[in-house]
Amino acid sequence: MFETAIAGSLPKPAWLAETGKLWPRWLPEGADLAQAKLDATLLWIKAQEDAGVSVIGDGEQSRQHFVHGFLERVEGIDFEHKVEMGIRNDRYKAMVPQVVGPLRLKGRVHEAEARFLRAHTRHKIKFTLPGPMTIVDTVADRHYGDSVRLAHAFAELLNQEALALQADGVDVVQFDEPAFNVYMDEAAGWGVAALERAAQGLSCTTAVHICYGYGIQANIDWKNTLGQEWRQYEKVFPALAASRIDQVSLECFHSHVPPDLMALLEGKDVMVGVIDVASDTIETPEEVADTIGLALKFVPRERLIACTNCGLAPMSRAVAEAKLKALAAGAALARGRLG
Ligand code: ZN
Repeated sequence: MFETAIAGSLPKPAWLAETGKLWPRWLPEGADLAQAKLDATLLWIKAQEDAGVSVIGDGEQSRQHFVHGFLERVEGIDFEHKVEMGIRNDRYKAMVPQVVGPLRLKGRVHEAEARFLRAHTRHKIKFTLPGPMTIVDTVADRHYGDSVRLAHAFAELLNQEALALQADGVDVVQFDEPAFNVYMDEAAGWGVAALERAAQGLSCTTAVHICYGYGIQANIDWKNTLGQEWRQYEKVFPALAASRIDQVSLECFHSHVPPDLMALLEGKDVMVGVIDVASDTIETPEEVADTIGLALKFVPRERLIACTNCGLAPMSRAVAEAKLKALAAGAALARGRLG
């Protein structure tokens, strides 16, 4: 009861990449970089296990950014000539690569780190990929000219990699779709359809993570405009409940999401965000257990997984490690209280 998992990313050690940044520059080069990425992965596998987290991830140590890490392995993308674009409905500007031709995978994207992760823990492992709609919102399209066609083109590539990850021994393939909270009508329509295309044929557990973004200032400012009740999930949850996706990861603690929206996910496992990624204050086990207790009013206990609200990438290592411990300790406390 009450498995625990991270949403996806963890901070990169200072010897691997610049710290505190969403698009950090790698520090080592060539073969040293490849080795350093795996060293950092091992460090975080151990930290998650030591904290008592039950579903282990690679902390996204091998990718510079959760979207661009995938795009780097896609033919038809021009990474040399990035352009500035407003993303997430112009919430912030980013330098993004351009789609300049038909899309095709150059080969495997995450084989090395997925196999490494599988080889170094006996726990269940989860691997994250960006969702099709969020990718479409994080590239400049100069070729397809149609968001839905572009999303389905990416969904086919994601599906190839997801099937290969499953063959690598991954237990949970998760697609990250923060864009679902920005373009709610499109998300409930073609967004979920493209997501299902990406998950087609998978027999492992499938998941989608939908959040209000990393704890960066642009996101904090945006959240301040959303009012006292954040109802963004209301549109997409019924579409996800009707989909073949098994698990949904959502924000809860310190958000203004009405908890009763979780009831819209009937039949799905719910990864409830019990850890705030926009604050360095470490949650107490009691706070985590209280959030789990609140979610249990709307989610059956056997379907509840305690999770972080989003990735921890821009945080300090010490804060991230302390938050992992709080996550596991809080779930343990909840098991004692409610088991
Ligand atoms: Zn997120």
